[in-house]
Order: sequence, then C-alpha cells, then structure tokens
Amino acid sequence: MSEQKFAPNFEEYLICPYDSVHRIMPIRLTYHLTRCAKNFPAAKMVRCPFNSTHLHSVANMQKHVIECPDRSSMERYKLPDMLPPAEPRPVGLVVETTEDWDAEPPAPTYNPKSYCDKEFVIRNPQGAPPAARRQFRENERRRFRENNQF
Ligand SMILES: [Zn+2]
Ligand SMILES: [Zn+2]
Repeated sequence: MSEQKFAPNFEEYLICPYDSVHRIMPIRLTYHLTRCAKNFPAAKMVRCPFNSTHLHSVANMQKHVIECPDRSSMERYKLPDMLPPAEPRPVGLVVETTEDWDAEPPAPTYNPKSYCDKEFVIRNPQGAPPAARRQFRENERRRFRENNQF
C-alpha cells in the first residue's frame, strides 16, 4: 500500500480551454466551462459538435473534430460539411478600422441653400401681378423653412 494512492491524480484533471492554469475535475467540467465562458467573453471558443464540454479555439477545433473521441458515436457528423462553422461571430471588442477621422467625407456635401437658390430662380414667375408675386414669395418662404427643418 503506497501513499501515492491518496495523492490527487493530476492525469484525470482536465485543462480549462479558457485558462490553462485551471485544472478541472471531469465531473465539474460543465459547471466550470459555463462559469469561465462568462469570465472570458472575448475568447473565441467553439463547442465540439460531438460533446458540448469540448471547447477549443477555432483553429484547434478543426483539428479536434477529426480526432474527437466522441465522433464515432455520431455517424452523421462524418460528413465533412457537418463541421462546425470556421469562424464564430466577432465579439466586437477589437474594432479594426482604416477610417481617418480627419479626412473629408468621400461623398460631396449636399447644400440645401444652393439647391433652393437654384429652385427660386427657376420658379420665379416673371411678369406676374404684384399680389401673385407676394403670394408666391410667401409660399416659397414657407417651403424654404420646411426644407430646412431637418
Ligand atoms: Zn477555466
Ligand atoms: Zn470533441
């Protein structure tokens, strides 16, 4: 009888996919992964389609699904097109952008003033009686105000 018998058997412990410092007893794995997923929201871990406790990075998962010990029990997943998606949705913590905030906007700026000035010229009724022209100017002023309410 040896004292070794009472020492923890580290070979039975699993290494947490989120943090390799974590050693998890297999019976606690599901609980631990649920908790760690909340602690590491930016980790791009994907679940093995054969066993939901198999968590790997995207690159490692593509290797894992080929050699997963649970794979043989799921015949339908032998089809190559049943592999998990290559890339999960980005979490959005890292935002890469080439946008230059100092640059001029690419589209030409719409100028409502110059547009309306042009409209005034086109729509100005030459030779109409003064009352009609006054009424027209009133309408145009209202139209101009409405156009500039945004
Ligand atoms: Zn962990
Ligand atoms: Zn697996």
